[in-house]
Amino acid sequence: MSRLLIIGAGGVGNVVARKCAQLTDVFPEICLASRTKSKCDAIAEACEGTVTTAKIDADNAGEVSALIRDFKPGLVVNVALPYQDLPIMDACLETGVHYLDTACYEPPEEARFSYEWQWQYHDRFKEAGIMALLGCGFDPGAVSVFIAHIRKHHIDQIRTIDILDCNAGDHGKPFATNFNPEINIREVTQDGKFYENGEWHTIPAFSRSFEYDFGEGIGKKKLYLIYHEELETLARNIEGIERMRFYMTFSEEYLTHLRVLEGIGMTRIDPIDYEGVKIVPLQFLKAVLPEPGELGSETKGKTWIGCEVRGTGGGEERVRRVYNTCDHEECFRDVESQAVSFTTGVPATIGAKLMATDVWMKPGVYNVEQFDPDPFMAELPGLGLPWHEDEDVSVAQ
Ligand code: NDP
Repeated sequence: MSRLLIIGAGGVGNVVARKCAQLTDVFPEICLASRTKSKCDAIAEACEGTVTTAKIDADNAGEVSALIRDFKPGLVVNVALPYQDLPIMDACLETGVHYLDTACYEPPEEARFSYEWQWQYHDRFKEAGIMALLGCGFDPGAVSVFIAHIRKHHIDQIRTIDILDCNAGDHGKPFATNFNPEINIREVTQDGKFYENGEWHTIPAFSRSFEYDFGEGIGKKKLYLIYHEELETLARNIEGIERMRFYMTFSEEYLTHLRVLEGIGMTRIDPIDYEGVKIVPLQFLKAVLPEPGELGSETKGKTWIGCEVRGTGGGEERVRRVYNTCDHEECFRDVESQAVSFTTGVPATIGAKLMATDVWMKPGVYNVEQFDPDPFMAELPGLGLPWHEDEDVSVAQ
């Protein structure tokens, strides 16, 4: 049993708060804190258990430490933005409290996400006897656990991993992102990058694609190779890996809007002067785009996220695919969320539960594939994310 502090009251924060509030035996008391308190209050009102709320600027480690001292949580779940990862980890170190997040740090002034900053906290967390679990959403998160599951039960020497992320949902808007627009656009406009034979290879953004038949009422969709943060952790944690790629679906409409926005400078992250005020064009764009948390009621269709893995197991060549499909409208009926926030918030809830119950608990800073996948995989269906497993591997080699 542990008091839980959740930081961030957006699309993902809504799911984490509601799901954790249902686990009253694990989290008897929850505080939801974010930059805008009214958003916390609205979510708290919809939660089953008692959830208190607070206003916080999590860029300020001192403010986070003060809230931790006041509320005395055993664990902080950070579902604000990646920029807040380091100040919140600093506050956890100062106060001796466990930490979990769903996205790795990136500096605001440079679109370059990497675990390198957070991994540097390992020794200090270990000495303090506290744990940080990094990247516990869906991808990164559940998919990395799928890979750990395949390694444990089917393919002990993994050679290749392809992660496929398909959002076949339709929100009826010409252009919107299903998680924070600023973070999403910074991520997908970077060069594509994949790992092969011990080296990273960089290619221009959206320059490699192929069609994949997802079945499940989704059918064929075009996927594009992009760089994604779990490739960095898997390259470190899966010994002997030869190749890893990450593919995501994008509709023609999304890509056309993105090209125009990039072309006219609206995705720039450097401050410009507008009538004597400094503004960052991408942050201004975020302010006019729909909030991911508000797309739930209008989004229809499904997500399909999973991995295809090749290698040897029991001395023979094997292939394995593990994936989840999630229906946007079912998520909305459950917790008034679209499926992208849902598929992120549920794994964060499971990670928090496994930490709070000492099932996944060792001092230091870790990624999810470093733990026994079985208890995590066992929790997924009950919280709304059933997974499927087969040998239907068909990514072009
Ligand atoms: P939203 O933009 O919907 O929510 C972010 C929330 O964080 C907002 O409520 C915002 O407050 C709050 N916030 C921002 N800055 C601060 C601050 N300085 N102090 C306190 N609160 C702050 O984003 P999402 O819910 O879509 O995403 C949340 C996180 O989940 C992101 O880091 C994202 O990258 C990650 N993610 C991970 C995925 C995975 O599979 N691993 C997939 C999808 C998302 P306000 O509303 O007042 O601005």
